[in-house]
Amino acid sequence: MATDGWGARPLLLAVESDPARLGRTETELARHFGASLRVRGEASASDAVRTLEGARHRDERVALVLIGDDLSAEGRDVVVAAARSLHPEARRALLIDWGSWSDAEVARVILQGSAVGDLHSYVLRPWTSGDELFHRTVAEFVQDWSRADPRTKREVVVVADRHSGRAFEISNLLHRNRIPYAFRERDSAQGHQVLEAATPPRHGEVVVWLAALGGPALVDPTDSEILDAWGIPTTLSEESREVDLLVVGAGPAGLAAAVYAASEGLRTLVVEREAIGGQAGTSSLIRNYLGFSRGLSGSELAQRGFQQAWVFGAHFLLTRTVDRIEPEDGRFRASVSGQGTVTAGAVVVACGVAYRRLGVPAVEAFTGNGVYYGASVSAAHALAGLSAAVVGGGNSAGQAVLQLARYCRAVHLIVRGPTLEATMSTYLIEAIAGEPVITVHTSSAVTDATGTGRLEQLTLTDLDTSRTTQLEMDGLFVMIGAEPHTDWLPEEVRRDQRGYVLTGSEAGETEDPPLRPHETTVRGIFAVGDVRSGSVKRVASGVGEGSVVVSEVHQHLSVRRR
Ligand SMILES: Cc1cc2nc3c(=O)[nH]c(=O)nc-3n(C[C@H](O)[C@H](O)[C@H](O)COP(=O)(O)OP(=O)(O)OC[C@H]3O[C@@H](n4cnc5c(N)ncnc54)[C@H](O)[C@@H]3O)c2cc1C
Repeated sequence: MATDGWGARPLLLAVESDPARLGRTETELARHFGASLRVRGEASASDAVRTLEGARHRDERVALVLIGDDLSAEGRDVVVAAARSLHPEARRALLIDWGSWSDAEVARVILQGSAVGDLHSYVLRPWTSGDELFHRTVAEFVQDWSRADPRTKREVVVVADRHSGRAFEISNLLHRNRIPYAFRERDSAQGHQVLEAATPPRHGEVVVWLAALGGPALVDPTDSEILDAWGIPTTLSEESREVDLLVVGAGPAGLAAAVYAASEGLRTLVVEREAIGGQAGTSSLIRNYLGFSRGLSGSELAQRGFQQAWVFGAHFLLTRTVDRIEPEDGRFRASVSGQGTVTAGAVVVACGVAYRRLGVPAVEAFTGNGVYYGASVSAAHALAGLSAAVVGGGNSAGQAVLQLARYCRAVHLIVRGPTLEATMSTYLIEAIAGEPVITVHTSSAVTDATGTGRLEQLTLTDLDTSRTTQLEMDGLFVMIGAEPHTDWLPEEVRRDQRGYVLTGSEAGETEDPPLRPHETTVRGIFAVGDVRSGSVKRVASGVGEGSVVVSEVHQHLSVRRR
């Protein structure tokens, strides 16, 4: 008989072929996690598979599978395949010894396993009783799993029709602002339960139930209403109308500027049009950021930066856009959408880039209703069992199709070029080739779309033969690059032909003293991160520029005071 997966303790499974190691690992896990998780050790791949099958049969949730590197490669593959197919939400990590970093083969297994989605990462075996590093790493995996597991109770519940475009946008907003939420279909038993439990019972296209805040329900709310209700400010306080530094954009570069400025005593306001984290907030896993050897999600990195800046005293204003900046008496007056003006001694422009449009009117018409620009595919599980396509040949597109392949029945990657090799990393190309649900369409373009109220069918045109193909489609993610939107800046701020902001010596001749490295042709306005002409478009470089620009801001403010 199936048990109720909601109440039962989720399973934490360790598989090691060496009995002494298995015993130690099991003891450590049980001692630390035994109260909330059911800990089980298995000494062979076949026993581990039986345990995973049993858990599936009993409708039991599996949080984490730790796979010893002492298992044979075949044994590891068998356990990974069973965990992936029977419990796709479970985290899978390789258990390795301290000192394994001298072993290139272990590194290869981890890197390749992560690239193809077999492993989430690795854990160092406990070397002593009460090994806190081991416990912390396991706890992080369990936390990651609980965020991904649709059956975990959530602080916020979104109830809507499965294909509601607005519900997708709200899910994306909640995800990117790292507000834990669950999606429930309106017609499901759980959806009904939520609508009735909401106080008072509410109905609308989308109902957002703030369970953790005592249950108020918002009907068809705006983004600002949701964030305000959750305690993220979207209205300007009086004390923020006059600041030392205005930061435009809360991507990695803007967040870094806010942390350094606020920690160095500058009254700092960050205005962000959409969500904390910028583009980085849409990345499910950033693997090349220094210091995070197991990688970390972009939204987690952004949330940490936001809290760091907030603790240092920076003020934030979300879902608002800086529309205009005008120099005024040696300071700057900025217009903020719906909020009037802010005066600042200096401005750091960290507004990144926006996604390039496909430019096919029939496809554009479904934006938000099956067609998504630069959307994180975090909401991919909403497309579980359905068909999805990604347009684009870069690494973001590669990461997106692999993420979608975890949930979707069929995934299509559509690229204009004849191959992927010129634009995508080899490890992603290999991973895509190994995913049977993914079909790659090279030399192809999306030329039409149809559907009733939402995307249902796409037309692809072969660019060599002009032959067209119809594909049944539930979701299309467009990832064809990005461009800066800087037309709201004063005309005097010099830009390159593509609209990226020129700074420092790149900005050309200016009178003495020379422009500071991140200073634009309007003194006191600085540009950092992706929006800056010639910048390296990476999280780490954005963070670096956002950090160092603050010393230039100090210099500007002190010269102005003299
Ligand atoms: C899917 C994906 C995966 C990626 N993976 C990696 C990776 O693994 N490693 C890596 O190093 N890099 C990665 N990148 C690139 C990296 O995310 C960017 O280089 C980085 O986010 C740039 O930071 P930024 O702060 O300059 O700009 P952005 O991240 O673009 O942030 C700019 C912010 O400004 C806001 N904004 C814009 N205009 C205004 C305005 N007028 N008023 C108020 N707010 C405004 C925007 O809403 C946005 O939030 C990835 C990018 C994507 C899209």
